Amino acid sequence: MSEVCVKVALRVRPLLPLEVLQNHKVCVRIVPDSTQVMVGSDRLFSFDHAFGPTATQDEVYNSCVQPLVETLLRGDNATVFCFGQTGSGKTYTFGGGNLGEKGGIIDRVAENVFSLLGEKKNSDGVETTVRVTYLELYMEELQDLLESHNTDKELFISKNDKGNTVVVGAKEIVVTSAEELLSIVEVGNVLRHINITGMNEHSSRSHTILTLQVVKGFPNSNPSLKSSCSSKLCLVDLAGSERARKGNKGSQHKESAHINRGLLALGNVIRVLADRARNNCNSTHIPYRDSKITRLLQDSLGGTAHTLMVACVSPSHHSVDETVGVLQRAAKARRIRNCPTATSTHTEAD
Ligand code: ADP
Ligand code: MG
Repeated sequence: MSEVCVKVALRVRPLLPLEVLQNHKVCVRIVPDSTQVMVGSDRLFSFDHAFGPTATQDEVYNSCVQPLVETLLRGDNATVFCFGQTGSGKTYTFGGGNLGEKGGIIDRVAENVFSLLGEKKNSDGVETTVRVTYLELYMEELQDLLESHNTDKELFISKNDKGNTVVVGAKEIVVTSAEELLSIVEVGNVLRHINITGMNEHSSRSHTILTLQVVKGFPNSNPSLKSSCSSKLCLVDLAGSERARKGNKGSQHKESAHINRGLLALGNVIRVLADRARNNCNSTHIPYRDSKITRLLQDSLGGTAHTLMVACVSPSHHSVDETVGVLQRAAKARRIRNCPTATSTHTEAD
């Protein structure tokens, strides 16, 4: 089995109009014609891709996400997760519900998957189905964003017979076009917002996981047997990585503690996996079980998926400490090695 490293793309957003008005200074720059980023005048970080404030959504998509869609359609699992402080551009980069120039990763994935499937249609007798799940993880509780009524349904993180992570009980919807997929995401996003319990910035305090599962059914010489194989693409928008603000009280404090616990656990998993790769030692314990987000990302970090981390940062001197923290963790993530498994075909009686 060949190993592949987690790939990291760094994106620096432009200063926002209000920041310009308030005289924020730019302190994060991409080194021209390179994939390196400089903070201040002396701290340099290297990545697989680096995008500056003028990079378009198209450039980001074409250079680092599109190859993963091809991977998915070839039958391998893939993950894209956005990581960064609140306000750094994660949701902008992710998109969802905007099929134009401004459309982000979700929009472009939707278009790309269905146009590639359309091209291949009926050419080889393979029947392809795309199934979607959309989940939110808030305060260590999983919510199904495809269930329009707030059910008390419990969702469990488990492993399937191939050892892949699955969420038992998640509603799956079969989609047949980009528009259908995006309207499902839009409805899910509305649900995400109406769950707000009087707290601002709820959405930046929860993680969302949109999963596209591509199932291919192959013609079989024996008509009573069906062969199929499936692969998944997980698109994960993580909660903001900032530290708990001082003075948070009661439920807000609890909320911050949960977010921090999840992100702290994620940071630990990244650190342990990066150290393991550096020391060439496979026996270390990886603390996946410390939080739900790390359990959900187990296949993506040190597992069997092809993984891209999109680290988003603000260029402003006001958030330089947070930015350096994100860059350090992102640089560590590049050392993580995954072992993608070859497509396995599953045959069963009709
Ligand atoms: P996050 O999801 O990380 O909290 P957002 O994606 O909501 O951050 O971005 C914060 C603000 O910055 C939004 O107003 C968004 O439109 C703007 N923004 C982020 N990235 C870019 C970009 N690359 N170009 C222009 N505006 C951006
Ligand atoms: Mg966001």
